[in-house]
Formats: sequence, structure tokens, C-alpha cells
Amino acid sequence: MSNINIRIAVQKSGRLSDDSLKLFKECGIKFESGGSKLRSISSNFPIEFLFLRDDDIPGYVEDGVADLGVIGLNVLEENRKEVEIVKELGFSKCRLSLAIPRNEVYTDLSYFEGKNIATSYPNLTNNFLKSKGVSAHTHEISGSVEIAPSIGLAEGICDIVSTGGTLLSNGLKEVAEVFKSQAVLISNKSLTAEKKNILDKLTFRIDSVQRGQN
Ligand code: ATP
Ligand code: ZN
Repeated sequence: MSNINIRIAVQKSGRLSDDSLKLFKECGIKFESGGSKLRSISSNFPIEFLFLRDDDIPGYVEDGVADLGVIGLNVLEENRKEVEIVKELGFSKCRLSLAIPRNEVYTDLSYFEGKNIATSYPNLTNNFLKSKGVSAHTHEISGSVEIAPSIGLAEGICDIVSTGGTLLSNGLKEVAEVFKSQAVLISNKSLTAEKKNILDKLTFRIDSVQRGQN
């Protein structure tokens, strides 16, 4: 048996982490996680886990530093890294939506014509508006996007929503969905035959876990 491991990057801690670890454990893969450990090699499957910030994962997979990764489709599509999407994983479901102050009257997307929109996702936001024939300005900020309208930074926002609770508590209302996201398994575009073989074994196990859930 060869001693090659496939290397997979998963989020260290955040909204992708728990379900990612749960999936691999349900696949029967034994490994240590948690604590300050940033790498872990499985004791019963040829895989090494790297625990990273989610934003770094697509780049690492593109460069081949990691062979595989688990990432939100929103982050992947925003950054457009050259990687293969192997499969949808069905967790960390959320949507990227446009929102405006609750007391504003919303008609349709033309509302955003000529307006400033604060977002951490300028590419997805611009593409969406352009495809709808609306020209607006995006203002990129890296976090706490919901605060932008109340401090006069922008008239609207485009941000990740799951329940809408954060919007509501910041006096905003969701008016249009821009992008639907979930976690996906990605791979480097030029895996060796040996690593492809390991990936096949992994996806076979993921498929059976997913079948058991449906
Ligand atoms: P990191 O510290 O790793 O950079 P982060 O703060 O950027 O983490 P998280 O908030 O943990 O990221 O979100 C990671 C991904 O989980 C998002 O990119 C998105 O795909 C998904 N996600 C975000 N918010 C939610 C939510 N409320 N419910 C479900 N999934 C979500
Ligand atoms: Zn992040």
C-alpha cells in the first residue's frame, strides 16, 4: 500500500466546521480535531486535515497546497478560483440577499439604480445587478455590513442571510435574493492518479452517508 495522503482543508471554527467534521466522521474516518491543532492525519484513511480560515481555502486548493477543501459556494464564486466542484454537501445553507432600511418603500430592483450598496461580496452583487440591468455602486467592507445604512455609508446592503434575525435587529428588511449557497467539496484541477483514487473512495463514502440521510 502506498503512503500517499490526500490533503483536505476545512474551516477551523465557524459555520462550516461542525458539519464538515461530522460528515467525515460519519464517513468512518478517524481523526483528531478541536483544540489548537491545525493539522491532523487520519489513523484509518489516507487523508490529512488542515484547519484554516475559510477565506484561504479556495486559494490553497487552487495552488495545490491542499488537494481538497470544504467551502461555501458564496466564497468560492466571489473569488473565482480555478478549482473543481466535486459535490454539493447540503449543509451551511444560506443566501446572499439585498436589504434596505425597513421603513423604505421597495418597488423592484430599479430601487437600487444609482444607489450605494455595502457588501463583502462585490463580484456576486455587481454580476447580479448587471444581469438585471441595474447600475449601482458597491462599497466593499469586510464585516458588520448591516450597520452601513444606519451610519450613512450606503443606502442598502448585500449580505448573507439565514433566518433574517440580524437584519431585523439592525432595522433592515430583505428585498431580493442574489445567490443561494451551501457547502461544497472542491478539488485541485490536476490531482495525481493516486490522489484521484483516494478522492473516489471518499466521494463513495460521502454518497452513502448522503443516501442514508434522504
Ligand atoms: P473564518 O473565521 O473562517 O473566516 P467567517 O466568519 O468568514 O469564518 P462563517 O460566519 O463561519 O465565516 O461562515 C462560513 C460560511 O458559512 C459562509 O461563507 C457561508 O457559506 C456559511 N454561512 C454563513 N452564515 C450562515 C448562516 N447563518 N447559516 C448557515 N450558513 C451560513
Ligand atoms: Zn471567513
